[in-house]
Amino acid sequence: MILIVAEHTAGKLAKATLEMVTAARESGREGPITLLVLGQNVAAVATEAAAVADQVLVADLPGLATYNAEVWAAATTQIAQEGEAHTVIIGGSRSGREYAPRVAVKLDAAYLEDATKLSSNGAALQAQRYTYLARVTETVEADGLVVVTVKPGSFAPAAPAGAAGEQYDVELTLPAPRVEVTGKSVEKSSRVALTEADVIVTGGRGVGSPENFSRYVEALADNLGAGVGATRAVVDAGWRPYAEQVGQTGKTVQPKAYIALGVSGAVQHLSGMGKSKNIIAINKDAEAPIFKVADYGIVGDINEIVPALIEASRK
Ligand SMILES: Cc1cc2nc3c(=O)[nH]c(=O)nc-3n(C[C@H](O)[C@H](O)[C@H](O)COP(=O)(O)OP(=O)(O)OC[C@H]3O[C@@H](n4cnc5c(N)ncnc54)[C@H](O)[C@@H]3O)c2cc1C
Repeated sequence: MILIVAEHTAGKLAKATLEMVTAARESGREGPITLLVLGQNVAAVATEAAAVADQVLVADLPGLATYNAEVWAAATTQIAQEGEAHTVIIGGSRSGREYAPRVAVKLDAAYLEDATKLSSNGAALQAQRYTYLARVTETVEADGLVVVTVKPGSFAPAAPAGAAGEQYDVELTLPAPRVEVTGKSVEKSSRVALTEADVIVTGGRGVGSPENFSRYVEALADNLGAGVGATRAVVDAGWRPYAEQVGQTGKTVQPKAYIALGVSGAVQHLSGMGKSKNIIAINKDAEAPIFKVADYGIVGDINEIVPALIEASRK
């Protein structure tokens, strides 16, 4: 079987999970696509998971209330061994990249990291990944039992396929974790997270100033119920937090609409948003590289065009 460890937050299945299901469907590997839901009070997540998977294994336990690398690695390993999984897919989130190598070691499996594409080459699982500052796309492959992490935003979210999968409760023996989270301070934002957003409005250096960023980028995003993104130039200038950076050294996103305001379209930015379904660019330079990937483009000054867009979107 193909075992996917579901990602979820606040009782909802994360988009990253749907992306991993697509990765599994495209991998060419055989066997049922099985989603493993680890957590506490995860009945609603399991129901959502069943809509896209052949089967769902649910471990609803107090010991899984909060993420811990040792616990997640032990739980995933147990289930992979019991179910004789030949492929284990884990999200390339910070936590996924923390526990996935542990799973590979425990299973004595090959480990493919940060896959942006999956396919089969005979018995081998083939993955593509970026290397050399995303200027090179490398193809790697491994036979037999493989653990893969999938780069968030690299695959389209899976749509439900046929009848809902069966759900099964599973028993687990969990280790006592050696590392404990002793404090947490959560940045509050009412905006949709970048990796979950269907629409993203991104501002680049061409926006002009942090004040303009709020006036134009945030205002348009709020009217559209969109996420807010930024280029590295804007983050490096201290206008916006790193969490909003899109690109090779930031987040990879694939929204239905990506609106780029004053973004030149450097290769490192494109590698993080180039797969967006519709790219809409506004830039005063008709030669800006962003127009090479844009589906719709307006050559003009942000200061004139964006206020009109904000007004139109308010209506
Ligand atoms: C190792 C490495 C990693 C990197 N990682 C990332 C990354 O993850 N993400 C990322 O974004 N970058 C990344 N970069 C940086 C990248 O190379 C670019 O420097 C950066 O993306 C440029 O940001 P920008 O488009 O905001 O700025 P600029 O390139 O300065 O472009 C500003 C644009 O705004 C336009 N403009 C100016 N004024 C107006 C106006 N009034 N109205 C309309 N348009 C206007 C200009 O014509 C121009 O095209 C990385 C670079 C390196 C070397």
